Amino acid sequence: SSFEVHVAYVETDSTRGVLVSFEDMTEREQAAQMRRDFVANVSHELRTPLTALMGFIETLQGPARRDEKAIDRFLGIMQTEAARMERLVRDLLSLSRVEGEERVRPREAVDLSEVIGSVVYMLRPLARESGTELIFEGGEGMQAPGNADQLQQVFTNLIENAIKYGGAENRITITLDRHPKDATLRMPAVVARVRDTGPGIDPLHIPRLTERFYRVDTHRSREMGGTGLGLAIVKHIVNRHRGRLRISSTPGEGSEFTVILPRWIA
Ligand code: ADP
Repeated sequence: SSFEVHVAYVETDSTRGVLVSFEDMTEREQAAQMRRDFVANVSHELRTPLTALMGFIETLQGPARRDEKAIDRFLGIMQTEAARMERLVRDLLSLSRVEGEERVRPREAVDLSEVIGSVVYMLRPLARESGTELIFEGGEGMQAPGNADQLQQVFTNLIENAIKYGGAENRITITLDRHPKDATLRMPAVVARVRDTGPGIDPLHIPRLTERFYRVDTHRSREMGGTGLGLAIVKHIVNRHRGRLRISSTPGEGSEFTVILPRWIA
């Protein structure tokens, strides 16, 4: 902990002295440090693809100018790098939007069965491409108060991760359950689980997974097109819905991401 020290000389008719006061800087400093780290991270994440783009532009202007094969290949790489920057900016905007928001006003009943169903429908081609089995059985009465777009983002990120990091012969199972009185939320809840049979995550990493830009394997994440912001966004949205995110994993067996949300009671 650190302090800022203020010193003042004070003189009145009757007394004279030095006034010393201490201000605890810890909290303010921590917040400032977090902001600096965040800006440094964002800059680094943007600079990596930008450096690649600049390099290829230079090569295309010079040595590769008339080499059609090289031109095709380099344009392909440039497109990948530009797409990476686009994803990063999109995720940064999502994050800043959900961070700036107050708690979601619980007016709208969001049918989680429908939301997850449409995410599964959208991600089925990606799953098929990587030979992943994707299983979801919806259910009746699985409404949660909240924002449908945001909850859709939660399940898109979780299921996409389960596909991306699940490796070969992966089986993803998504379940929805109702808890009349959930032990965590102490109220009726809807519990959604996204489970994979992938390589799993070392327990050491689990507490840090929802930090912005935290990755277990930076190289693999980049290769998979990850921004390192996906789970930070998930955590924020779930919190805004007064819910909880639980992560558990057994290396060699798979991972489970559990979203617990208050249940909509009409
Ligand atoms: P990224 O953009 O890197 O995917 P996320 O915030 O979504 O960022 O995830 C953070 C990290 O958590 C990932 O880089 C990956 O290492 C790990 N991870 C997330 N989901 C899974 C999963 N289902 N199985 C194994 N590792 C995972």
